[in-house]
Amino acid sequence: AMAVPERQVPSVCPFCGVGCQLTYNVQGNRIVSVEGRDGPANHGRLCVKGRYGFDYAHHPQRLTKPLIRRADAPKSATMAMDPARVLEVFREASWEEALALAGGGLARLRDAHGRKALAGFGSAKGSNEEAYLFQKLVRTGFGSNNVDHCTRLCHASSVAALLEGIGSGAVSNPVMDVLQAEVVLVIGANPTVNHPVAATWIKNAVKQGTKLILCDPRRSELARHAHRTLQFKPDTDVALLNAMMHVIVAEGLADQAFIASRTRGYEALAANVAQYSPEAMAPLCGIDAETIRHVARLYATSKGSMILWGMGVSQHVHGTDNARCLIALALLTGQIGRPGTGLHPLRGQNNVQGASDAGLIPMMYPDYQRVTEPGVRERFAQAWNVPAALLDDQPGLTVVEVMEAILAGSVKGMYIMGENPAMSDPDANHARAALAALDLLVVQDIFLTETAYLADVILPASAFPEKTGTFTNTDRLVQLGREAIEPPGEAKQDLWIICQLARRLGLDWNYGHVAEVFDEMRRLMPSMAGITWQRLERDGAVVHPCPEEQHPGTPVVFTETFPRPDGKARFVPADIIPANERPDAEYPMVLITGRQLEHWHTGSMTRRATVLDALEPDPVALVHPLDLAELGVVPGGVVTLASRRGSVALYARADEASPRGAVFVPFCYYEAAINRLTNAALDPFGKIPEFKYCAVRLAAG
Ligand code: SF4
Repeated sequence: AMAVPERQVPSVCPFCGVGCQLTYNVQGNRIVSVEGRDGPANHGRLCVKGRYGFDYAHHPQRLTKPLIRRADAPKSATMAMDPARVLEVFREASWEEALALAGGGLARLRDAHGRKALAGFGSAKGSNEEAYLFQKLVRTGFGSNNVDHCTRLCHASSVAALLEGIGSGAVSNPVMDVLQAEVVLVIGANPTVNHPVAATWIKNAVKQGTKLILCDPRRSELARHAHRTLQFKPDTDVALLNAMMHVIVAEGLADQAFIASRTRGYEALAANVAQYSPEAMAPLCGIDAETIRHVARLYATSKGSMILWGMGVSQHVHGTDNARCLIALALLTGQIGRPGTGLHPLRGQNNVQGASDAGLIPMMYPDYQRVTEPGVRERFAQAWNVPAALLDDQPGLTVVEVMEAILAGSVKGMYIMGENPAMSDPDANHARAALAALDLLVVQDIFLTETAYLADVILPASAFPEKTGTFTNTDRLVQLGREAIEPPGEAKQDLWIICQLARRLGLDWNYGHVAEVFDEMRRLMPSMAGITWQRLERDGAVVHPCPEEQHPGTPVVFTETFPRPDGKARFVPADIIPANERPDAEYPMVLITGRQLEHWHTGSMTRRATVLDALEPDPVALVHPLDLAELGVVPGGVVTLASRRGSVALYARADEASPRGAVFVPFCYYEAAINRLTNAALDPFGKIPEFKYCAVRLAAG
């Protein structure tokens, strides 16, 4: 029988950016069940991950003691070992010894090779306070801006386009605004799988009469609810969106009053889209011209149209261009700045918005204050009580660039907290070789991840329900996650570990409660200035920007102006740039990577959650049934998938949703780590890799 909970702890879900509030039911030091709470983003709803993805915290493989690599254990061999035996290459150590080796070692590398010889990856799974202190440690303790996290792999291109076009990288309207929209355009996203509770609000909106336009190369579950589904050919986003804008301009549907009063650069955009008639683009994107015209008219003329997009848009070498087109579409039609309109890049991790806000990115301090902007460095130096000359005035290296710098010999030491680049980076064999080449790798995590395999020192950290902190969801909603249980064994809270390392890097930090970190952070972040810890404790959630303590928060932004120097948004035209690696005779198919409903990113948590693992236990490749039949593979049969960079074996699953010639593979399975195959080619603006397109070959057996 299920135990009766002794305590009920209000918190938020540790997985996706929807930010559902939940209750942990706790018995002793164990979570026994989870229930939905009435939070602003979920009103009691939870998906299968939020509801059942909690017992990873009690998994026997939790790290409970600091570990140090044995002297006779070469890193190159570790990756190929049986996972059950990898622990043998490490020995247990005291915290004192592990911290001395980690912090002292990083300090020595910095002193011997200069401050750019170190880099750090934080995590969008951590709290705002952890992100803030982590970037402060890198900037003041390492002395460079070499700090990044998985936002680089998720929406970096969207953010680049948004900052350029409208002056803010966050969403303009919350997900819940779909209930006020007349038209909802979902492109390059599969919310049923990746933002499940958001998908339920979209379905509720459709039930009330909202028209859903779904654009994606894969025919996702939302298609059942869509007014039109445009299953366009992979990699043809710009062609499709420019054709829609062509119709809007040519048919006089543009909102000229909005364009005149609130934007710049219309003429260049209109001239550019003039070349992209639906008739010319139809063969390219595989959507007939009349359908393109229909959805363009519908989007432009509705009382309120809202765009939601995902990584199908962002993870391309032209990801920034894709997002530029979506921004232009909204500006062209005045579909922004009111409830039920706007631009919503659906954030992946539960705190990817907050970690970015808190400065866990190489080009900006907290609140997107550029490291190169005059006066900014001085302001942070003063607040942090360090000489301005100590802070680097050049942007640091991004996630993929760090790997290149390691192999080129310029980065020699790394501190990785809660990220798993050995699984999540593109061309993962290359990334693993880079991690193995480091003089010193310090990994802070809750499990022996594939990245930790390559560590010199492993610091056992706290799981989500073992600490208190703030998390910012996709709607810019800052919410409080609360400590429900204690970390196991000698595992410690992440904030404590960061502070201990800071001391060993020569920093004189004295933080008591997490609220002190929050308070320092909000004083340096104008958008969070009005959010006090007391307010969060009382209300559980406040939406930023919130400039003053009496301010109610701002769910819908850009109602009057855009946060750019002249207050106006900017059109940026885009032209078609092909994917970096196109199919050919040797590698004739396209690989698209992504997620499954039951698993989260590299799988380190959900594959150790009993129910979720039981639902999806094995690596799968989703392939159109006709493609499978041509290969002579029966569903469930083993296939080998290969690209120029590597190969994996997995089980074939017949999938009507996949386009012919494309293979979809989730990236959570270590035994078939699909990022060994992906291409590390980067979008030049957001520096995001092209996870959504590379050439592969599929074979039976
Ligand atoms: Fe958690 Fe996202 Fe599911 Fe909500 S929709 S329960 S935040 S994974």
